[in-house]
Amino acid sequence: MRALVEGVEVDTRHWIAGERVAGARRFASISPIDEATIAEISAGSSAEIDQAVAAAREAFKAWRRTSPEERARYLHRIADIIESRVEQLSVVETRDNGSLLRSHRRGVMPRVAMNFRFFADWLLQLDHPDFDVRGHRNHVSYDPSGVAAIITPWNAPLMLGTWRIAPALAAGCTVVYKPPEWAPLTASMLADITAEANLPAGVFNVVQGVGREAGAALAAHPGIARMSFTGSVPTARSIAKAAGDNLVPLSFELGGKSPFIVFADCDFDLAVNTAIGQFDNAGQVCLAGTRLLIEASIRDRFLEAFLEKARKIRQGDPRDESVDIGPQISRQHFERIDGFVQRAKAAGRQAVLGGGVNTDLGGLYYRPTLFLDPDPGSEILRDEVFGPVLCLQSFRTEAEAIAMANDTEYGLAAVVMTGDKARAERITGAVDAGLVWNNCFFVRDLRQAFGGNGKSGIGREGGNWSFDFYCNIKNAVYAPSGWGK
Ligand code: NAD
Repeated sequence: MRALVEGVEVDTRHWIAGERVAGARRFASISPIDEATIAEISAGSSAEIDQAVAAAREAFKAWRRTSPEERARYLHRIADIIESRVEQLSVVETRDNGSLLRSHRRGVMPRVAMNFRFFADWLLQLDHPDFDVRGHRNHVSYDPSGVAAIITPWNAPLMLGTWRIAPALAAGCTVVYKPPEWAPLTASMLADITAEANLPAGVFNVVQGVGREAGAALAAHPGIARMSFTGSVPTARSIAKAAGDNLVPLSFELGGKSPFIVFADCDFDLAVNTAIGQFDNAGQVCLAGTRLLIEASIRDRFLEAFLEKARKIRQGDPRDESVDIGPQISRQHFERIDGFVQRAKAAGRQAVLGGGVNTDLGGLYYRPTLFLDPDPGSEILRDEVFGPVLCLQSFRTEAEAIAMANDTEYGLAAVVMTGDKARAERITGAVDAGLVWNNCFFVRDLRQAFGGNGKSGIGREGGNWSFDFYCNIKNAVYAPSGWGK
């Protein structure tokens, strides 16, 4: 079972115990660019999940005993192959999920390789501290925990998947990965890459399929040791229940409704340009600052400049290098976004920008949309739309800005635009978010702690935080005497 996608041949079967497994059922991968079916993919069920978990448990026996240096070498080999395939991975990913080809080529796929390199290198300098307790030497070690189950979404499929796969493998875990059904193809390519890197059979397994079947079976499997999930809150709730039954530790990276706070003393052009950037990836970015909170004294000027720039955003085929925004991922997601917009309009809110499909393009191309002053507590202000839809409100005082910023059940990120450093520090201290960007956006590094509060997630990733999650941390105590017999 193979598909030819943009001239690249992709095997679309599962990858279990180092072999391709077709399974009995299939699902279609539909390109958001033109809603054409581009591949038939194996649709896994609990049978394939059982096989994959068994393979990963078997492979764990040897993989856990590999030295950090050996594991680092495998990870670097995988990174080398990814780097040599940036173009192929980019064209397939763009066809599959509709994100910009230029972003894949220049940013996303190099970062995929970096996910492996970074955790390979971090593994080799992981600190195993010793300390003394009344003459007894205490030694802390990071032991691999077992099979890591990893489930991720479609908005940056290979980047989000490998951000968890790489540290899990580095930590000495084996992996069963369930990729997103709306963009499954590059995960299948990754399986081939790991095989070419000679990763032992069963160390990395891919079971394709839809969430409520393959995903749910994986989350509920008693053979997994860790559950890493990136996705939506409703899915997180069902996964948490399943992981709870098995008492499996979990890491959740979920949605957001982040504030973007602009003070009158800011660098105005920087603030407007950064705000426009919240439409990136057609608004399908968990970190996006979708609530623009603007100091009242500059509101009119800001709105005018924002609208002028927003009207110039070029929307179209994401393979075109000159395009800024592509389509939404799927018809179902498009309808969900439009549902939010139409309900807000019906409640009396006027969209001062966009508010529906781009009629020049049709299909899944939703126009960048802006609502002014939604009622506090209204759905469009409260829920994550995960599309190109922003809301603008204004505030008069710093205290009011903080109260509005924190008026959410989410707590993933916040953006603060101000010329006053002391104020930036005050706001940073007061907002409830895992990540605060001051006069910038999307500056990221794998050493940073990444994660959200409240409905935005559980746990942190990056650097040591990733190893803390995938490892069983052991403290060994050695008495000062009793040796030498
Ligand atoms: P989703 O929860 O519907 O799906 C995510 C993954 O979970 C998919 O692979 C899907 O197949 C699987 N899944 C679905 N139902 C399942 C079930 N019952 N059991 C097990 N697995 C199941 O989310 P989505 O709509 O695909 O993704 C968008 C969401 O992801 C947004 O909320 C976004 O903010 C969030 N996200 C968060 C981050 C982050 O780092 N915080 C990054 C990207 C996306």
